[in-house]
Amino acid sequence: MSIKNDSNILVNFCHLLYKNGLIAGFDGNFSVRIDNNSILITPSGKPKGFLEPDDLIVIDLTGRKISGNGEPSSETAMHLQVYQNRPEIKACCHAHPPYATAFAASGKQLPDNILPEVLLSIGDIKLTEYIPTGVAKEWVKLGQYIKMNNAVLLANHGVLTLGTDAEQAYLRMETVEHFAKIAFLGESLGGLKTLDTDEVVRLTKIREDKFL
Ligand SMILES: [Zn+2]
Repeated sequence: MSIKNDSNILVNFCHLLYKNGLIAGFDGNFSVRIDNNSILITPSGKPKGFLEPDDLIVIDLTGRKISGNGEPSSETAMHLQVYQNRPEIKACCHAHPPYATAFAASGKQLPDNILPEVLLSIGDIKLTEYIPTGVAKEWVKLGQYIKMNNAVLLANHGVLTLGTDAEQAYLRMETVEHFAKIAFLGESLGGLKTLDTDEVVRLTKIREDKFL
C-alpha cells in the first residue's frame, strides 16, 4: 500500500475520533507503521478532527523525522514504545474518550471479564501508572503494560489502543469507550457480574486464534 493510501486511511479515522466525541480540541494522536523502519504519525499542534493527508509526518523508529511539513506528535515516544515492544502491531490510536478517561483519572481499572465483545476484540484493559505527558524518556514505563495488552487506560490522561491496522486500533478505541460507559452504568445499577471462568477461557481462545 502507498503512503498516500495510508495517509487517507489515517486521516479518516482521526476525523471519526473527533466526530464520535473520543477527542476534543487538540487531543489525541494516531500512527501506522508503513514499513520495518517508518511510521506515519499525526502532527503536533493541529486539531485531529480537521487534519488533511498532507499534514501527516513520516518518522523512523527512533522518532527522527523523515518527511513532512510540521513536527511529529508530542507523544511520539508513546507510539515508539509500542512499535519497539510489539513487532506485530501496525497501528496505535491515542484519545481522551470521556468515560474511559474518567476511569483513568479516578485511578480505577475497567473490570475484567464482563462483556464477551471486549474479550473477543481486546482482552484485559490495564490501567498504567501516571506517565508525564510530553516527556519522551518517561514513556519507557509504558512497555510493561502493553506487552500482553491491546488497550490500556493511561492514568490521569486517556486511552491507548493497538491494532494490526488503523481500523482495528480505531475500533478498539470505540469498544473501550463503549464498555467504559456500560461499566459506569452497570455500577450505578448495583454492580457488574463477571462471566464464568470457562466462558472467559473460551472467548479468550477465540481472540488469540484470530488476532495474536
Ligand atoms: Zn493524550
